[in-house]
Amino acid sequence: MDIKTVGIVGAGQMGNGIAHVMSLSGYDVMLNDVSKDAVQAGLAVIDRNLERQVSREKITADEKAMAMARISPVLALPDLGQCDLVIEAATERETVKQAIFEDLVPHLKPNTILTSNTSSISITRLASRTDRPEKFMGFHFMNPVPVMKLVELIRGIATDAETFEACKAVVDKLGKTAATAEDFPAFIVNRILMPMINEAVYTLYEGVGSVSSIDSSLKLGANHPMGPLELADFIGLDTCLAIMNVLHDGLADTKYRPCPLLTKYVEAGWLGRKTQRGFYDYRGEVPVPTR
Ligand code: NAD
Repeated sequence: MDIKTVGIVGAGQMGNGIAHVMSLSGYDVMLNDVSKDAVQAGLAVIDRNLERQVSREKITADEKAMAMARISPVLALPDLGQCDLVIEAATERETVKQAIFEDLVPHLKPNTILTSNTSSISITRLASRTDRPEKFMGFHFMNPVPVMKLVELIRGIATDAETFEACKAVVDKLGKTAATAEDFPAFIVNRILMPMINEAVYTLYEGVGSVSSIDSSLKLGANHPMGPLELADFIGLDTCLAIMNVLHDGLADTKYRPCPLLTKYVEAGWLGRKTQRGFYDYRGEVPVPTR
């Protein structure tokens, strides 16, 4: 199946990153979010990130202009009906995603492939509530999308081979590498990464270390490019908590219980970089630990 037009639902940090790489690779992109302001904010981030690539001579000014011209803002889900592939990248909440698919599905072409960028929710369950479980799969990009090379491709129980191959061809065209994961909670990357982040929050909660000592320990002691708390802020603490809840519920093992301190930060609305405060406060010149 030849994919030319890609619809993206959600213009947040993942959605705008996906739109960025898709348009640079020549796909026509339709970008949707809940409001005009949210779509415009996504477009502004794409513009800024493409400009940075121009200034670093990774792309030319013409390539940037062509990429921006290939992205159309879309305010109503039915307008994504003619897309060949739709990637849902809205907030990590099952009810939100389900409502999107319910609104979208009646307007899609019969052969449109429907995918979700979910970090953890069951692909099989999301698929079963659509009219096309065989044309549904997980298309999981990593953050920041323009930089990270991996895309996890997750087959639901009903996903057919043609759908998988079409998505794999898109990953190849983007110049990224696909890893195939089975549809179990949080797939591969987050099944391993999130318990580590959660354990770092427990280490902070129990007073074993401060934010700085925990992050320095993993950077200097385990050669991680970012400390786990810095990384949690980067991902979004709401997203981290949502993934831990999916692991906890889906695998029914207490070793995945979310740290109460992580819950507390989310309750405070301190969600990390996107709200300027999380384990670090980003409102000044340099990030300052909040504990
Ligand atoms: P985000 O909060 O930055 O963006 C979510 C966007 O979805 C917001 O702009 C919001 O307005 C929009 N949205 C909410 N409801 C919507 C609706 N009904 N219709 C259209 N848009 C809607 O979150 P994010 O980090 O971009 O995460 C998005 C998805 O990507 C989640 O499923 C998350 O698990 C997944 N993901 C996140 C990361 C990460 O590191 N943050 C990595 C891989 C995958």
